Amino acid sequence: MTKQHIQDYLKAHGLRKTAFRIELLQLFLESKHSLSHQDIREKITSTQDKVTIYRGLNAFLEKGMIHKVPDTNNILKYALCQEEHSKETSEQGHAHFLCNECHNTFCMYDVKLPVYTNVDGFQVVNSKLTLEGCCPDCL
Ligand SMILES: [Zn+2]
Ligand SMILES: [Zn+2]
Repeated sequence: MTKQHIQDYLKAHGLRKTAFRIELLQLFLESKHSLSHQDIREKITSTQDKVTIYRGLNAFLEKGMIHKVPDTNNILKYALCQEEHSKETSEQGHAHFLCNECHNTFCMYDVKLPVYTNVDGFQVVNSKLTLEGCCPDCL
């Protein structure tokens, strides 16, 4: 994605383009795995302000651009919602892969969750599927 695309992407999600937001989005686009607040803070250059980073992440979350992912150490991590999958993500969801070696979390967009609405009178509003093992980089 070019810088122009990134700016258009922010605009399409109703977000004002700031140097920080552009950099944050770029970081997610370039990362193969999900990012924690700490990862972001270490990589980003336009700000070191914790609150700015939290606000940026919250804005992206609210706009459905990123989602929270599970982590082996219960650290909050975020991953990009792939645009072509974003509609499915909200309705159906995908599995997440936790690598036992590098402890990164990967979105498995091709592994869809089964859709449960009502099971024996239980109303299901959320389901998760987490796979564990060794990622291609660690194999
Ligand atoms: Zn790994
Ligand atoms: Zn995901």
